[in-house]
Amino acid sequence: VDKVLVAGAGLAGCEAAWQLAQRGVPVTLLEMKPERMTPAHSSEHFAELVCSNSLRSDQMENAVGLLKEELRLMRSLILRCADEHRVEAGGALAVDREGFSRAVTAAVKSHPLIETKTGEVTEIPPEGPVIIATGPLTTQTLSEAIRAFFGGAEYLNFYDAAAPLVTFESIDMDRAYFASRYGRGGADYINCPMSEEEYEVFHRELSAAQEAKVHGFEDRKVFEGCMPVEVMARRGRDTLRYGPLKPVGLPDPKTGRDPYAVVQLRRDNAAGSIYNLVGFQTHLTFPEQRRVFSMIPALHSAQIVRYGVMHRNTYLDSPRLLNHRYEARREPRVRFAGQLTGVEGYVESTASGLAAGIEAARSILQMPPLDLPRETATGALARYISDETVTHFQPMNVNFGIMAPLEERVRGKKEKNLALSRRALEIIREKISGDETAPAF
Ligand code: FAD
Repeated sequence: VDKVLVAGAGLAGCEAAWQLAQRGVPVTLLEMKPERMTPAHSSEHFAELVCSNSLRSDQMENAVGLLKEELRLMRSLILRCADEHRVEAGGALAVDREGFSRAVTAAVKSHPLIETKTGEVTEIPPEGPVIIATGPLTTQTLSEAIRAFFGGAEYLNFYDAAAPLVTFESIDMDRAYFASRYGRGGADYINCPMSEEEYEVFHRELSAAQEAKVHGFEDRKVFEGCMPVEVMARRGRDTLRYGPLKPVGLPDPKTGRDPYAVVQLRRDNAAGSIYNLVGFQTHLTFPEQRRVFSMIPALHSAQIVRYGVMHRNTYLDSPRLLNHRYEARREPRVRFAGQLTGVEGYVESTASGLAAGIEAARSILQMPPLDLPRETATGALARYISDETVTHFQPMNVNFGIMAPLEERVRGKKEKNLALSRRALEIIREKISGDETAPAF
């Protein structure tokens, strides 16, 4: 059986290596720590949690709760170690970060089919199966090799300057309307009008809102080309009205006149279930984004599925490059996993490592692919990052908006989410009972 090279022993790399080895496929896992550290990593152990020690909600009405449960069913090493090192955190799964990382490292290092080596990966090997899982802070040399592999600078992003994403469902359409500026193009935009009074309050709160801490490794220069909306607000009372909140050419069908200011939302996926706030790249803390953006009248109850961020983040333009098995379309033996593929978050990175590892193993063992569908959270993530209709690709947290909708009508948001979760878990159970290559621990 071919030996797989896995680059990077983070959350995705450890999970991918484990899934391969558990299926009898030998792995070389190459990690540069502790010889060389990224600006955010400091521990000698694998699967280091670089910031928060929380793997977020553990509730089934929450998409990340569902994703974790799917991973447990699929015998994820990361979830097993997280559960074993859980610390009390209400409805969330928080872990003792040191104990967690030690446990993952010990499991990986003692697996008879995983050989671990220390060193920086500087190129994509010219042959043999490989999974690149070097994360958001992939070294420069390897980043350049990845760029060369795909043949274009536009395929790899180094910074994430992302605007928040909201679900269509949660937009109050009584206070918003579809229209493109001057009636040009289709109705891909939703417009959220504001009166003068509403704008004044919004402007005041946005100008004074609290920004997230800038970590030492983040490059302030990035902000020059892409100004955060709160910085623009501070430049003057009307700066936003000449920028992203420009109200001209967008008459409100209720009044027939242009509003005082208007926030535009752009459709983010073909299904029209997710919209982004145009021009709202932001560096505000997440609670402040919730508080201030809900002052936009149509967004009073908006569900933010991905918060705006501005930080160093290396990620691929995956919809153009990868398929839903995390394989490079141009050369499927080369796979990518983790944050590098444009999934966002610890649990999401783990899920992509798990899926990439399972699919690689099945391909090497000449078995049909598992192909988890969009009805599951794990499958929905893989399909979102490889969805060619997503044109302005930004990293994505798991959320119910990217999953296939229910066929039956269910009343109430919580009940609906629970029904989506039940359906997903049933599919996973069915799929893994047919996955005879996946032995228990
Ligand atoms: P990582 O866990 O970063 O693993 C990549 C590994 O590859 C590292 O061990 C690295 O040393 C190694 N590596 C890099 N380049 C090379 C190379 N050339 N050769 C060999 N090895 C290499 N998500 C959350 O859910 N919650 C948070 O609080 C959170 N905070 C974050 C804070 C920061 C500063 C950053 C950058 C990201 C944060 N994320 C957070 C996002 C993301 O979930 C994590 O970065 C997550 O660890 C990504 O998993 P990964 O496996 O893709 O990469």
